[in-house]
Amino acid sequence: MGFEGRRYLVAGARVAGIASAEALLRRGAVVTVVDRSAGEWVDRLTTAGAEALVSDEPPTDLLDRVDEIVVSPGFPPHHPLAVAARSRGIEVYSEPELAWRLRPADAAPWLAVTGTNGKTTTTTMLVSILRAAGLRTEALGNIGVPLVDAVASDLDVLAVELSSFQLHWSSTLAPHAGAWLNLADDHLEWHGDFEHYATAKKAVWRGPVAVGNLDDPYVARELRAHEGRTIGFTLDAPRQGNLGVVEHMLIDRIGDGDAHEIAVLDDVKPSGPHNVANALAAAALALAHGVDREAIRAGLSGYVPEPHRNAPVATVDGVLYVDDSKATNPHAAYASLRSYPKVVWVAGGQLKGVDVDDLVAAVAGRLSGAVLIGVDRAELADALARHAPDVPVVDVPRTDDGAMAEAVTAAARLARPGDTVLLAPAAASLDMYTSYAARGAAFETAVRGLRQ
Ligand code: ADP
Repeated sequence: MGFEGRRYLVAGARVAGIASAEALLRRGAVVTVVDRSAGEWVDRLTTAGAEALVSDEPPTDLLDRVDEIVVSPGFPPHHPLAVAARSRGIEVYSEPELAWRLRPADAAPWLAVTGTNGKTTTTTMLVSILRAAGLRTEALGNIGVPLVDAVASDLDVLAVELSSFQLHWSSTLAPHAGAWLNLADDHLEWHGDFEHYATAKKAVWRGPVAVGNLDDPYVARELRAHEGRTIGFTLDAPRQGNLGVVEHMLIDRIGDGDAHEIAVLDDVKPSGPHNVANALAAAALALAHGVDREAIRAGLSGYVPEPHRNAPVATVDGVLYVDDSKATNPHAAYASLRSYPKVVWVAGGQLKGVDVDDLVAAVAGRLSGAVLIGVDRAELADALARHAPDVPVVDVPRTDDGAMAEAVTAAARLARPGDTVLLAPAAASLDMYTSYAARGAAFETAVRGLRQ
């Protein structure tokens, strides 16, 4: 496709928007960039030849002089700009779709990962495996590294994390193999409803090989209905063509259908069944790319986990403290809680309108106690009163810098030797912290403070 002289609107000037504008300018396109706040990007992109607009609501008459729009995740399908573009037949797409269109003829294949939870873990496990196989690769996409530059680099293969937002705004990108990890309520405000959210995720399977989680009812149903090559993974014994777990081993039955050992359970870090599922997904993508089993094993055993994802912090008086601040929705918190037999649960934050009743009912039997923080504490307290009336609950109403220390001290009092104190909030952090990472760091500091 020719970019020369074509007129683009880049909506959203964060990392991916800036990289998109620069890539388009390099190809001779006419580029306008709009963002609600001014910043370093204005000078940078006007110097490079773009027009920069700072505006809360991009004026729709902008569309009179635009052929295509590249949007950031801040633009949901019902955004007035998107609606106006649709009615004029102007194509709207995300940065990964632009990267796909920009890729050279001999471009490296993409191995992609999507799902409600586990994307970053799986993508980074995949990178570890591919590197163990001697391949040049990077973790790209939703992880924060734009694809528009990577497609023109000398990497052998791209490990691509894709969010449902990026997939929604795509129409042709077709990874060589795409893994769909799971599907649960999250981001429904953005997509409008569950069906639209699910449809967006399914786009990861546009290419030749579809990898899917057989233990997730929705994904399993879609995988069975999928036309084309599929590879399923499960925490049970796998059938021919799939990956799974037998006793203490991760195995695959790809190719000849015999069971091949690809790793042992102890190789998988962080611990927990959800991370075994992530490891199987990463292994399936690697196998689809022709990587051998020794490299998979080496890659998984050498994997260094990302911070704030089931990260053990310390053991104090026989109690293990674990930071899973990245468990920002109930589906993630459930996976986390079921990884430990007896838990004092530190939970709460912004629930984003998602219901916690099923989560609390499912984990009630594991709780030695709960400590509630953040703006939506009352909803968790109500659910605990209904489903776990005997579990002691401590409410921490304060939201200042001392809140986490108070929560951790309260959790330490509730915990008995052998318990795990687990920060798995089931909620976003922005009511009290700048990010999940800042919340996790506050937890870790508070745990270290217990020793004094
Ligand atoms: P994402 O990139 O999709 O947000 P991460 O790999 O960063 O996912 O993991 C986020 C959190 O989700 C983890 O801290 C953990 O609580 C939970 N989690 C990870 N993998 C899974 C999985 N396969 N299923 C359910 N929950 C998971």
